[in-house]
Amino acid sequence: MLVQSATHEAEIAAENAVLGGRRALRHAVVPHGGFTDPEYGSVGITEVEARRKQDCAVAVVPYADLDRGIIDGHQVGSCKLIVSRATQCVLGAHIVGEQAVEVVQIAATAMRAGMCVEQLADDLELAYPTFTAVVGLAARRISRTLGLIPLASTEGGGSERLRAAEWALRSG
Ligand SMILES: Cc1cc2nc3c(=O)[nH]c(=O)nc-3n(C[C@H](O)[C@H](O)[C@H](O)COP(=O)(O)OP(=O)(O)OC[C@H]3O[C@@H](n4cnc5c(N)ncnc54)[C@H](O)[C@@H]3O)c2cc1C
Repeated sequence: MLVQSATHEAEIAAENAVLGGRRALRHAVVPHGGFTDPEYGSVGITEVEARRKQDCAVAVVPYADLDRGIIDGHQVGSCKLIVSRATQCVLGAHIVGEQAVEVVQIAATAMRAGMCVEQLADDLELAYPTFTAVVGLAARRISRTLGLIPLASTEGGGSERLRAAEWALRSG
């Protein structure tokens, strides 16, 4: 029930009708969201749906951890990333915060490309300082949880810990 899906369905329906084709449409990955303040963006399945089906790893990174959030004064929000422990692929991403509908598209692209979380965390060098980097930080946190990259002494501390710079979170 989204413009991009409706348009795609219409094109295929028209093509099948006029050309006698039998093409079907599979809505494999459909990022969507709402242009509220702050925005919300979503792709894939929720944490509840994921846990019902399989063992998964979940990370929630607050926008306050983003240098861009601090620079622009948009520290409200967070990004939840859900990854399958079996395949290490992204199952879903759910974001509330500045530019969330834009940001969620990077997670959607990773899902469609079949990228594993370690590739999203390490191989893709996302521009700095950006809101999109929140997906990279969440991927990095999950990669550490899954033991794909070593634990960094600056990450994962309690609330009494001084806030580590985004660079420290990334460079681990
Ligand atoms: C307030 C609102 C905000 C939205 N915001 C977004 C957004 O930001 N992004 C997004 O992706 N999606 C958004 N959507 C959803 C999006 O608009 C729909 O998913 C999309 O328009 C569906 O396209 P459609 O062609 O299937 O149906 P529609 O666009 O509803 O088109 C159906 C057409 O058929 C006509 N019709 C119905 N019955 C008959 C009949 N018996 N005879 C002849 N004509 C008929 C209707 O008049 C209408 O023109 C929003 C929807 C609403 C209501």
